[in-house]
Amino acid sequence: KQPTNQLQSRSRNERSRSIFLFEFPERSSGLMATAGKVIKCKAAVAWEAGKPLSIEEVEVAPPQAMEVRVKILFTSLCHTDVYFWEAKGQTPMFPRIFGHEAGGIVESVGEGVTELAPGDHVLPVFTGECKECPHCKSAESNMCDLLRINTDRGVMIGDGKSRFSIDGKPIYHFVGTSTFSEYTVMHVGCVAKINPEAPLDKVCVLSCGISTGKLIS
Ligand SMILES: [Zn+2]
Ligand SMILES: [Zn+2]
Repeated sequence: KQPTNQLQSRSRNERSRSIFLFEFPERSSGLMATAGKVIKCKAAVAWEAGKPLSIEEVEVAPPQAMEVRVKILFTSLCHTDVYFWEAKGQTPMFPRIFGHEAGGIVESVGEGVTELAPGDHVLPVFTGECKECPHCKSAESNMCDLLRINTDRGVMIGDGKSRFSIDGKPIYHFVGTSTFSEYTVMHVGCVAKINPEAPLDKVCVLSCGISTGKLIS
């Protein structure tokens, strides 16, 4: 209980941050009704570098092996999203769905996923853990060989494809999270289960702002 309370009080001290939160409305449909099906939902799509994001209806494919599909309830904007949206000095990759600091609920899980189930409250993690590589097994590193942050990859690791599309045209992922969408698909190692009592609108900043030290002064 204690760690959760500490996290809650810390995030409450960061009220100024909440102006960056976007809240997606709750949907009345049950979480299980969509399992195994393509979900149509709204997402903020970046079509070109530096051009305003456009709210589009996207199709989100079901999670494949070792993947989970998450209903994103809260997401915030980080300067890393802005940096790659501007695409100054890196290889541009568009169209793309940005976003990596968020909170949500597991909608469905793909084959082989045993540690998460629909309804679990989760945070995305852009540097994930496969739990099997030398880095994951070491106590001195968490730079996973498989799931460490990779800003140049816009597809899923399992099959090299995107789970987002508009009229059949793929939309690229961003750092394995792409949370500027009502639903997103992530590798199970890039999803952290949290206490369901933790308020998702507050603890979503654990995804990046607090874990990278940007909010601690
Ligand atoms: Zn960030
Ligand atoms: Zn690993």
